[in-house]
Amino acid sequence: MVEGSCHCGAVRVEVAKPAEEVKECNCSICRRTGGILAYYSPKEVRVSGPTDVYMWGDRELEFHRCKVCGNFTHWSAVDKSYDRMGVNARLMPADFLKGARILQFDGADTWTVTGERIGP
Ligand SMILES: [Zn+2]
Repeated sequence: MVEGSCHCGAVRVEVAKPAEEVKECNCSICRRTGGILAYYSPKEVRVSGPTDVYMWGDRELEFHRCKVCGNFTHWSAVDKSYDRMGVNARLMPADFLKGARILQFDGADTWTVTGERIGP
């Protein structure tokens, strides 16, 4: 397991393994939160601590943030049978992205990968 937390530590996020591939997305919310998303099955993730949820549009995804410090922690589907969720890799230990493929994803328009770099 790899454990990360929001800035204040109230919310802890544990994932089963480091991510080999993550996405940096320019959609309306990601470009504002600045999150880098690592994707997992909800079975591979444990979140503890108080979060608030933000939803908009078709209201199919819950965007969670720490109730105390406001850091964006993860998104999960409203439909709990959906076997995918996004975890904000920015909350993970500093070396979490080391060597990972960071894909630039054009979520604002074409929904395609437009570039990539290797994590520092
Ligand atoms: Zn917090």
